[in-house]
Amino acid sequence: MDDKAENPPEISVAIPVFNEAANLRPLVARLKPVLERCAASFEIVFVDDGSSDETLAGLRELHREDARVKAVSFSRNFGKEIAIAAALDHSRGAAVALMDADLQHPPETIAEFVAKWREGYKNVYGVRRDRAGEPLMRTLFANLFYGLFDRFGETPLPRGAGDFRLLDRQAIDALSRMRERARFSKGLFAWIGFKSIGVPFEVEERASGRSKFNYAKLIRFALDGLMSFSSVPLKVWAVIGIIVSTFALAMAAYYFWRTVFYGVDVPGYASLIVSIAFLGGMQLFSLGVLGEYIALIFGEVKGRPLYLVAERVGVEDDEPARPF
Ligand code: UDP
Ligand code: MG
Repeated sequence: MDDKAENPPEISVAIPVFNEAANLRPLVARLKPVLERCAASFEIVFVDDGSSDETLAGLRELHREDARVKAVSFSRNFGKEIAIAAALDHSRGAAVALMDADLQHPPETIAEFVAKWREGYKNVYGVRRDRAGEPLMRTLFANLFYGLFDRFGETPLPRGAGDFRLLDRQAIDALSRMRERARFSKGLFAWIGFKSIGVPFEVEERASGRSKFNYAKLIRFALDGLMSFSSVPLKVWAVIGIIVSTFALAMAAYYFWRTVFYGVDVPGYASLIVSIAFLGGMQLFSLGVLGEYIALIFGEVKGRPLYLVAERVGVEDDEPARPF
């Protein structure tokens, strides 16, 4: 335990990292002058999300050089959303800034966040100016997702807001009471409320390496996000069921009338097979949606810890408070 451990710093910077060895040193080098200018005291808390490269070794080295750089290392890769939770759990500052490690989030913006925090805002979020420089497909996906979320999500998301933000201790404490496993941090940040404000920033190029998200991961992330913040996909089937049944009743009445006045005719195979296939498809699809929600419930009721820590570097050896 180092002697600074007793006094919590004013500002913590929380950073999830997964195979970012090459970015650590440039990131810390750019962060420190900013923090030295705008904070009375600070710490930089990394969460190593089960990296397989030299990330952890790099973090140990950075801690040796400056005890204000700390790290928690997971036993395996738990994913960015869980790493964010752990980073917030282990940050002790009166305010905590959250950012990516790849320098896409300019450290200088944190000074603007801190200024807003001093004005009394508790939830200061970065708003990206545009999505330029991103693959077109990813922009399209993102627009589709946010369109759906705006329509069906129970919590409005501020446009262009992401994980890059600064949260007051009060907001952090609120978040630390939300131990859900299917985590959609952006939604959680919006859900907690508190006095909020957006600060525009320019997304920079990734400093080194490539994005850790492929389309499969992004789709999974989008589904989890939608499902944890909307029950519309569950409930919509009642409405569809009523519409289809009404249609079926109308058809029954029509065929009854036709049979009474014109007798029975044999053709009808095509319409029969199409409607059977259509209804079968709808039933399987709705079952699939149910399955997705049940999987989420299953994940939650197992009550497993959110993450497992394999090593702490300069972080006290106490598990964060957990209601389970
Ligand atoms: N990250 C993580 N765990 C993962 C994937 C990513 O902690 O499983 C971290 C990564 O190291 C980076 C941040 O999350 O600090 C954002 O990741 P990335 O830059 O790959 O995402 P993108 O910018 O493409 O959204
Ligand atoms: Mg990135």
